[in-house]
Amino acid sequence: MKLGIFGGSFDPVHLGHLLVAQAAVEELGLDRLYFVPAAQSPFKSDSHAAPAAMRLRLLRLALAGKTNCEVDDQEIRRGGISYTVDTLRDYAGRFPGAELFYLIGADNVAKLPEWREPTELARLAQFIVVPRPGLSELPFPAPFRGKYLKGFPLGVSSSQIRARVRSGLPIDPLVPEAVAAAIRGAGLYLG
Ligand code: ATP
Repeated sequence: MKLGIFGGSFDPVHLGHLLVAQAAVEELGLDRLYFVPAAQSPFKSDSHAAPAAMRLRLLRLALAGKTNCEVDDQEIRRGGISYTVDTLRDYAGRFPGAELFYLIGADNVAKLPEWREPTELARLAQFIVVPRPGLSELPFPAPFRGKYLKGFPLGVSSSQIRARVRSGLPIDPLVPEAVAAAIRGAGLYLG
């Protein structure tokens, strides 16, 4: 069984994330892909982050009706700073014998050695890199292994969505319709 795990802040989820998912399912032939929103990323300050419950709700709206994809709220339930190694250990324990693929955008490749317990991480999963416009293919830093996907490179980021909301610009084409409506309804990212 081939399982994909896609971690991130998802603050908010956007079309770039959904295209990562589509590329991974198609190019790797995943049986299932789990989106795992972080409680708190070790690399991001949470001063302007939307509450975890809201990020989770937006993800569920974005993935509604998509077969193969589901949301796993384990990092939010654990709370505190979220470390991928804890999540991968959980998957390895629950799905013995499954091949685990951890998805990252190209912006994360150079930073992999700074993640907690790199040797264990590299043992537990292959790292699958999805291109982001403007970023070239760097070799995998040791001891990580994995590959690059062709993907559907799209220059959309959560910070861009938050900035557009703050500036009163439309976000409709950049996030699923239900997500845009929920962001507006809850008055997120205005401040
Ligand atoms: P921010 O702009 O707040 O830093 P982000 O858009 O990078 O956020 P995250 O939730 O931090 O979103 O990303 C989760 C994962 O998805 C990361 O591995 C990131 O590299 C990847 N990712 C996000 N957007 C894209 C995109 N447009 N193309 C490819 N990968 C992406």
